[in-house]
Amino acid sequence: MQNTIPPKTYRVKSFGCQMNVYDGERMAELLAEKGITPAPEGKEADLVVLNTCHIREKAAEKVYSDIGRLVKAGREAGKEPLIAVAGCVAQAEGEEIMARAPAVSMVVGPQAYHRLPDMLDRAVAGERATDTDMPPIAKFDALPARRKIGPAAFLTIQEGCDKFCTYCVVPYTRGAEISRPYKDLVTEAHKLVEAGAKEITLLGQNVNAWTGEDDKGRAQGLAGLIRALAQVDGLARIRYTTSHPADMDDAMIAAHGEVDKLMPYLHLPVQSGNDRVLKAMNRSHTADSYLRLLERFRTARPDIALSGDFIVGFPGETEAEFEDTLRLVDTVGYAQAYSFKYSPRPGTPAATMDGQIAKDVMDDRLQRLQAALNRDQLAFNNASVGQRCTVLVERTGKHAGQWLGKSPWLQSVWFEGKAAIGDLVEVELVEAGPNSLAGRLI
Ligand code: SF4
Repeated sequence: MQNTIPPKTYRVKSFGCQMNVYDGERMAELLAEKGITPAPEGKEADLVVLNTCHIREKAAEKVYSDIGRLVKAGREAGKEPLIAVAGCVAQAEGEEIMARAPAVSMVVGPQAYHRLPDMLDRAVAGERATDTDMPPIAKFDALPARRKIGPAAFLTIQEGCDKFCTYCVVPYTRGAEISRPYKDLVTEAHKLVEAGAKEITLLGQNVNAWTGEDDKGRAQGLAGLIRALAQVDGLARIRYTTSHPADMDDAMIAAHGEVDKLMPYLHLPVQSGNDRVLKAMNRSHTADSYLRLLERFRTARPDIALSGDFIVGFPGETEAEFEDTLRLVDTVGYAQAYSFKYSPRPGTPAATMDGQIAKDVMDDRLQRLQAALNRDQLAFNNASVGQRCTVLVERTGKHAGQWLGKSPWLQSVWFEGKAAIGDLVEVELVEAGPNSLAGRLI
């Protein structure tokens, strides 16, 4: 590959989960540190980072078609961009991408992107590079201080996963579970608040698997860390995602009952309501143990909003087993939930399991599940009408004087009146819709 002109503009395109979005923001900060600026909307960028997700159906093939589109657009604009492939497909495919896509000059995994600036220098000098090393802690120590902070910020506290659900690639693409040191997290939380954050969402593939030693050398879990962060002056709200039922403990249930800054919202994936399917998924819990766990959270915090993840059409799932999932949904009454059709991932045990479900059956089950979930989300929003709550203002609305923010239950709320981004305002919820509520400023 011949030398190229150092890029002046960049574009980071992130796909998939909140962790990937967070990584995309950090890569953008690394490039900004090098004096490279975001490409204007609609303009071709000199450098494009495809921050990929392996959960997308036919994930790898989609990356190759994205690369093809970039090269074609670059040729038409008379300047071929420098292309970097990052994220979970980069980790899974590695050198294969270099072999199949000569236009790509950098392939970097989720644990190695702190080295992107060096890889870029080598790419400009004509050297193509792949880095799918897994030094998670080193990554965070090497990342620059956060720049652009909104009122609601993310803080990655844990990475990787040891659960090996049979349908999931994350343990292979993100590696084993690691917890960032307690001291680093408290320090970074202070910096986020100094930079303007009022709310911090703690992120991890298995965020409630976080463990660490506090400043007195005592062993702590997520609940202990949350109690420590609740002492940070200026921090008003704490959230966390994504948890695994098997890592939930009494301390987390107590924290929801006792820590005011911990928001009454719990995202706890379950995937299926049938025990045979849960076993085949290697989820290490049953439908009943999951329901009893939610009951304990509701006892500790009666107004808690519950959210879940679901997969329909897992190999071998019968109609009766799917109806167990619908029954679980009826029992819980989720405030929000995410649902997906099963799709085989290369290299995962479920991909070669017997009883792969036909697409039309999956489509039908997803539709019925989403109808039930949408019914319950609207019911939860309707039940909130008349309540007064605090809304964190995150951005302006459609017209002047209109603002948008989040309720404690992570509902989108819009209202009119005198406010500013970052304000915590009192509103009365006056009207509910399926995805948002109208509020009256008090
Ligand atoms: S808990 Fe299961 S679904 Fe979640 S990241 Fe780990 S292996 Fe994947």
